[in-house]
Amino acid sequence: MILLDRVTKNYKKRKTPALDRVSIHVEPKEFVIVVGQSGAGKSTLLKLLTREEKPTSGKIIVGGIDYERLKDRDVPALRRRIGVVFQDFKLLPNKTVFENVAFAREISGASNREIRYTVPKVLNIVGLKGKASSYPRELSGGEAQRVAIARAIVRQPKILIADEPTGNLDPKHAWDVIAVLEKINKYGTTVLLTTHNQEIVNRLKRRVITIKDGRVISDKANGSYEL
Ligand code: ADP
Ligand code: MG
Repeated sequence: MILLDRVTKNYKKRKTPALDRVSIHVEPKEFVIVVGQSGAGKSTLLKLLTREEKPTSGKIIVGGIDYERLKDRDVPALRRRIGVVFQDFKLLPNKTVFENVAFAREISGASNREIRYTVPKVLNIVGLKGKASSYPRELSGGEAQRVAIARAIVRQPKILIADEPTGNLDPKHAWDVIAVLEKINKYGTTVLLTTHNQEIVNRLKRRVITIKDGRVISDKANGSYEL
């Protein structure tokens, strides 16, 4: 479902490629951890999948869509199929938890009725049913990140991308967030997680793809932290 074939990404002003002939194949419903030092190319890889960046060369196919043939007008539809979560939650400060999640649904044209039905369900999945009327400033980092995850999954994407979602969290909250990602994966969503948290990588016992200087240096089922 996700296929990268010898994907290279050069940024202007950089002598070496940020990604260098990266080939990765991810099946539907997999849970994949992408590990690499800062600057290794993890975020670039994810940005190629969301079409924030275009590859310099190589092939990208996601859910049967060949990115070479993707028109600009098709990008919003593509992004609806891929939920994204970042290290810095990016919640709207003047909206409640419910409204933050509902907003993601509103902009894709859902009815009020549908929103009243889906948003509580999604808040339940991330364990925040009781926080629906709280504002982001009233939440812990772990709760805020789980709101961001709720917002990412409310449109029922096939793929969830989480770029260092635990980077700003203490260990307990980090594990709350990881538990939610595992639950979402169990329900059938493909999860791509980047992290450089060794303990998380080693305890999850999932497929681990290690990137160093833009190259995949290992790709193992049941992998561990190797840097
Ligand atoms: P990671 O997420 O693993 O820390 P990134 O993918 O963000 O790595 O960055 C990989 C390399 O590409 C880094 O050296 C970074 O400085 C560079 N880079 C990232 N984005 C840009 C950009 N928009 N323009 C130029 N260089 C960039
Ligand atoms: Mg990054």
